[in-house]
Amino acid sequence: MLHSIPTIPDDTRQSLMATAVSSCVHCGFCLPACPTYRVLGEEMDAPRGRIVLMKEVLEGTLPLDEAAPHLDRCLGCLACETACPSGVRYRDLIEPMRERLLERRPGPARTAGALLVRVMASPGAFRVAAALGSGMKAARALLPESLGAMLDLVPARLSAPTSFPRFTPAAGRRRGRVALMTGCVQHVLRPSITEAAIALLTRNGVDVIVPPGQGCCGALALHAGHHELGTSMAAAHAARFPTEVDALVTTAAGCGSSMTSTHTAGAPVVDATEYLDGLGLVAPMRLAPPAPVAYQDACHLAHAQQVMAAPRRLLGAVDGLTLVPLADAGLCCGSAGLYNLEQPGIAAELGRLKAATLVASGATRVVTANIGCLTQMQSALDAAGHVLEVQHILELLAMSSSSPAARG
Ligand code: SF4
Ligand code: SF4
Repeated sequence: MLHSIPTIPDDTRQSLMATAVSSCVHCGFCLPACPTYRVLGEEMDAPRGRIVLMKEVLEGTLPLDEAAPHLDRCLGCLACETACPSGVRYRDLIEPMRERLLERRPGPARTAGALLVRVMASPGAFRVAAALGSGMKAARALLPESLGAMLDLVPARLSAPTSFPRFTPAAGRRRGRVALMTGCVQHVLRPSITEAAIALLTRNGVDVIVPPGQGCCGALALHAGHHELGTSMAAAHAARFPTEVDALVTTAAGCGSSMTSTHTAGAPVVDATEYLDGLGLVAPMRLAPPAPVAYQDACHLAHAQQVMAAPRRLLGAVDGLTLVPLADAGLCCGSAGLYNLEQPGIAAELGRLKAATLVASGATRVVTANIGCLTQMQSALDAAGHVLEVQHILELLAMSSSSPAARG
């Protein structure tokens, strides 16, 4: 796409934005992959339209306020990147643009957003907020829709505070040594994901180090446009991890995607599914009773990190598990950082669409690789009255490898 975006000396991000615009050939292949286009059917709520809007903002011919509603509706799922035959790096455009979108908001709204991010990023503070949220569920009908939508994602009962061993040795012959991230929201809402990761890794011969006091990797803040806050969180998070390990293993796709660009020194950041797939599983796995299982891609694993085959290969190695095809597995479920709070209508509609495809797949279990997707899908299924359990893929794999049947 031709453009007249001004060059700013030494501004790498501006030049990356210009490159993304110029590599778009306006073909429209990305449109059907875009969740907001699927829901709203508007060109300006599709990747191609948004690229034109951002180009005009950068050229100075369109006020940011006019583009903002369409850009605010973007989930940042990056399905458009996977669909694009021209290799447009849409993330290079939308991520810096989010900062400009945030800057135009009134000061109190920015402060409130930063405070919300800080609360979610601190397991202690988030636990208190989540407990309050659990208690307010009964009053959901009286609350604004955006707040109600967030409450839907909070479980009725929180699990007890959990701490993880700082070091768990490999079972049997040592085949690797990793540092494991615990996440902030995930640590409170579903500590069983980290427990499953430790179990699976150690059973397959990997020493697992869990650095204490990890806090947040900064992904939430960066996704919301709080660049300074996000980068300082990311730096503090990175400093907690040892470098003398094979990998820094993540169990949340959103965190992993962000950390691949913020944790630039030390061991490589690798999703647990990719690490285990590369290592090769030695612990046998059997699902009892046998069940059809659907795998829903987490956008930040599939589209941002291009990890799609590894989780499916791991599931394919479980005896008794039939991996059933899922229509539109690459389409976002509507969970993206604070999206439920900011765009509750679109998030709910995407949740409804996803619940319908999950049910139509015939699966009796659903797995994914991100806590946000997991809670969004479970909430949508529950709201539609479907009895279908959603798990993290590591939970199902760990459960299968520890079952008495598997140990034979
Ligand atoms: S990131 Fe997702 S929501 Fe945003 S334009 Fe791309 S496909 Fe659409
Ligand atoms: S698929 Fe790629 S090149 Fe085609 S319109 Fe979308 S972003 Fe542009």
